[in-house]
Amino acid sequence: MSDLLERLRGRGWRLTAQRRVVAEVLDGDHVHLTADEVHARAAARLPEISRATVYNTLGELVSLGEVIEVSTDRRAMRYDPNAHRPHQHLVCGKCGLVRDVRPVGDPLTDLPEGERFGFTLSGAEITYHGLCPSCASD
Ligand SMILES: [Zn+2]
Ligand SMILES: [Zn+2]
Repeated sequence: MSDLLERLRGRGWRLTAQRRVVAEVLDGDHVHLTADEVHARAAARLPEISRATVYNTLGELVSLGEVIEVSTDRRAMRYDPNAHRPHQHLVCGKCGLVRDVRPVGDPLTDLPEGERFGFTLSGAEITYHGLCPSCASD
């Protein structure tokens, strides 16, 4: 399990009912939800929660560095609570399943000097595309 709720408690983040529900929806492993998915799941538990509250809370979690924004496809930004362990993503092109993966080697240091064009690098995002086992066997 990702320990998002525990981390937020540790930081003294004020856990209102609405914020708690957003954090609970995002807690877990291999969680990569769009803002709309977070809202739908949060509203299933707390029907009065507004889309604006969900968006604001997501923005706050991102600025705290406890949730990262990832763009594994062109459709929408996804929110990922696995914010403290550098990882990349494996995406199923058919059902959209997303897995956190840690490739051997560091994509940042793996970029040769001659390919950096004088840039100071701050991050690298790699998305591996393919079919998950259940889609591949269909
Ligand atoms: Zn699949
Ligand atoms: Zn991830």
